[in-house]
Amino acid sequence: MNQDINLMDKIVSLAKRRGFIYPGSELYGGLAGTWDYGPAGTELKRNIKNEWWKDMVQLRDDIVGVDAAIMMNPRVWEASGHVEAFTDPLVECKICHQRMRQDKEDEIAEHEKSHKGQKVEWTEPKKFNLLVKAYLGVVEGTQSQIYLRGEITQGVHVNFRNVVDSTRVKIPFGIAQVGKAFRNEITPGNFTFRSREFEQMEVQYYVKPDEKESMEEYEAWKKERMEWYIKLGIKPEHLKFEDHAPGKRAHYAKAATDILYSGFPWGWDEIMGIHHRGDWDLRRHQEYSGQDLSYTDPVTGEKYIPWDIETSAGVDRAALMFLLEAYTEEDGRVFMKFHPKLAPYKAAVFPLLANKPELVDLARKIYIDLKKDFMVAWDDRGNIGKRYASQDEIGTPFCITVDFQSLEDDMVTVRDRDTAKQERVKISGLKDFLKDKLDI
Ligand code: ATP
Repeated sequence: MNQDINLMDKIVSLAKRRGFIYPGSELYGGLAGTWDYGPAGTELKRNIKNEWWKDMVQLRDDIVGVDAAIMMNPRVWEASGHVEAFTDPLVECKICHQRMRQDKEDEIAEHEKSHKGQKVEWTEPKKFNLLVKAYLGVVEGTQSQIYLRGEITQGVHVNFRNVVDSTRVKIPFGIAQVGKAFRNEITPGNFTFRSREFEQMEVQYYVKPDEKESMEEYEAWKKERMEWYIKLGIKPEHLKFEDHAPGKRAHYAKAATDILYSGFPWGWDEIMGIHHRGDWDLRRHQEYSGQDLSYTDPVTGEKYIPWDIETSAGVDRAALMFLLEAYTEEDGRVFMKFHPKLAPYKAAVFPLLANKPELVDLARKIYIDLKKDFMVAWDDRGNIGKRYASQDEIGTPFCITVDFQSLEDDMVTVRDRDTAKQERVKISGLKDFLKDKLDI
């Protein structure tokens, strides 16, 4: 467990130094709550999303994907309750970021008690709409105001009818989506944890409106999502569920829980939510759009509005968690112990000396060949020690060095990120060696 209080500072600095994450618009002094992913960070994020998509869509036959527009008809946000719910004057607890209606004095006092022994400070009250406004149209004064989506969920619900009509899905089935969401967060912070622009990966899983069946699905989703993070390298003891107490849940939610990660320097915090939303969203869209959003069972002819089990995960929070979990200091080395599936580069290839054409030629050949199957890095700068150190810091599982001996015996030195051990491997067997070790 990383108990280092300076861990976040180390991660922020490594992220910048090695091209994971840069402050957004840094050149112009930045823009609060926005972040740009560099080459290593982009690969990490892409790997997270690809793994998620593979498990959720590719390997299942009951889930299909959509990619809905970020800009939606403003009525969507009226139907979803976001316009109404986000326009009260709110204050935000500076400790846990819970937002509360300023006029709910009893609730505020109750909340302060939950931070036993700590002095609770609140932000200034703001009549606050979490939705980010945008303007569409070319003529000044006649533009219409819209919102950038505050969650990706609604883009799925508004396409429920389209997906049912255009594919062969049958209840129970899910619709998956990955994409950007925007929130005018009052206090963005804790690096990327609370950003104003972020990515989500979600499945809305539609089930029969049946208490027992839907709760079984809800429990199955909880288990499945927890196992997914563990499979990708998060220690089980670093994760837990935190159920929303009945009084704190949205009024329509039949059950709701969050998965929390313990490795954030400020303690346990949310990385994703699993929510049993009943028929709230589809019913509201049916009401506001005037369109029939019911489903007819093809066998029994039964007609109903399905219930929805939502799983909603943040991509950026997952990336931050994987960065924190991977950070390792051992024997004077710093390395990122990413699961191979998430590592930005699976291997790096070096010619021992950059000014020996015969070494460079052979190394390039190996590099180009490996690139057909994996993301592979190339480095011929400085000495081997420095190259190892820089690959360690981006979490590359294997470094492959072509030396003079390679010209004689067709073998290369392969060095393992986690053990720093080296072994000689036949060039012709390199791909199989990597596939076997990386398990990909
Ligand atoms: P929080 O209570 O931390 O504000 P939330 O409960 O509002 O989060 P949801 O609306 O359930 O979050 O969104 C699902 C997921 O989207 C969260 O678990 C998180 O991973 C991610 N997410 C939400 N807001 C942000 C944000 N401002 N920055 C980064 N990720 C976010």
